[in-house]
Amino acid sequence: MALIVQKYGGTSVGDPDRIKAVADHIARTARAGNQVIVAVSAMGKTTDNLIRLANDVTTKPAGGREMDMLLTAGERISIALVSMAVNDLGVPAVSFTGSQAGIVTDTEHGNAKIVEIRGDRIRAALDAGSVAVVAGFQGVSTAKEIVTLGRGASDLTAVALAAHFGADSCEIYTDVEGVYTADPRIVPTARKQQRITLEEMLEMAATGGRVLALRSVEYARNHGVKIHVRSSFTWAPGTWVTEENPDMEQAIISGVTHDISEAKVTIEQVPDQPGVAGKVFRSLADANCNVDMIVQNVSTQGHTDISFTLPKLDVARMEVVMAAIVAEIGAKGFQTDPDVGRVSLIGAGMKTHPGVAATMFETLANENINIEMISTSTIRISCVVRQHDVENAVRLLHDAFALGA
Ligand code: ADP
Ligand code: ASP
Ligand code: MG
Repeated sequence: MALIVQKYGGTSVGDPDRIKAVADHIARTARAGNQVIVAVSAMGKTTDNLIRLANDVTTKPAGGREMDMLLTAGERISIALVSMAVNDLGVPAVSFTGSQAGIVTDTEHGNAKIVEIRGDRIRAALDAGSVAVVAGFQGVSTAKEIVTLGRGASDLTAVALAAHFGADSCEIYTDVEGVYTADPRIVPTARKQQRITLEEMLEMAATGGRVLALRSVEYARNHGVKIHVRSSFTWAPGTWVTEENPDMEQAIISGVTHDISEAKVTIEQVPDQPGVAGKVFRSLADANCNVDMIVQNVSTQGHTDISFTLPKLDVARMEVVMAAIVAEIGAKGFQTDPDVGRVSLIGAGMKTHPGVAATMFETLANENINIEMISTSTIRISCVVRQHDVENAVRLLHDAFALGA
């Protein structure tokens, strides 16, 4: 008897018909003789709508305990409805909140980390022949508070449950047929990949390919979970995210991603002395600002400019810290630019193929797209460009590297 974890995203359970379609698939999987654990997201745009509601009743930037109490309600609705629909098909199913499922976390509201899974209630449900339907994106902290695990984290719930129970497969059902060479909503010719390495998927998730949440991919890598990303609309076989296979040649480029969720900050005329960068980025870290790309210019006359990117959500906190630090280090000032975006090329084969960066930069230059920052890893090249150029840049790069179907 196999144990299968299935995760259904918001669109997959967006209305009663979708919930019935999903329930049918769950029931078939159980009737085929498998034990099934299901992780579910909130219906459709419920989480976004709840955040909007919160902002309608308070002027303070929302977050913390009450926000988590509110947001976890979204998944609570969908687990109950999915369980009812599965039961209706004659297959027993029981719903569990994250807390009931034994997902124990640290105390960081809004972005809690899983510290332990106490799986006895789910195990008992499975042993009794039921499907266990678990609320994604939530847990209970070591301080006994209800918490959320970060946006998109129902993927993480599924992967963590798959790891804990040693599941035979972890199926992430979504509204596209798998991991594509680019977001198929932006590049119509994007191609579904049969497989992608964990390393590539990590880079994709970190640079805007939101089909899997970054922390779920990290968790899968750390715990050896094999993920199958597939569609709950067509049920066609999707993309396997697996360890690199040394016997297979890697594609040079496996995908183009884009991200418009970050802003660029430039600190002007920073004194070029040892310790200054340390001071700046320590202050930002202490204020929980998640700095991403960093570029320091060549020094002229003892001064240099430093630019970095960070999530737009962190900008308000950054600006408070930066006002103080600019005065402390004697820099001229700083500027925040939210109208930027990042395009990234990802591919395990680029390690051994020179010329990828050159082709990328030439492709952008030919269309007059200015590159404002560059960063690389061994299997990724990212460029910051104007936000209005981002979608065009993705399509141009997808063509230039012949990634299409
Ligand atoms: P879910 O609600 O199921 O978690 P998400 O919206 O989080 O779904 O993720 C699926 C979406 O990810 C797709 O609708 C697609 O637009 C987007 N996406 C971005 N990049 C890619 C990619 N490279 N391959 C597939 N989908 C992608
Ligand atoms: N509902 C949560 C969100 O929108 C979690 C998820 O969908 O994975 O972020
Ligand atoms: Mg998602």
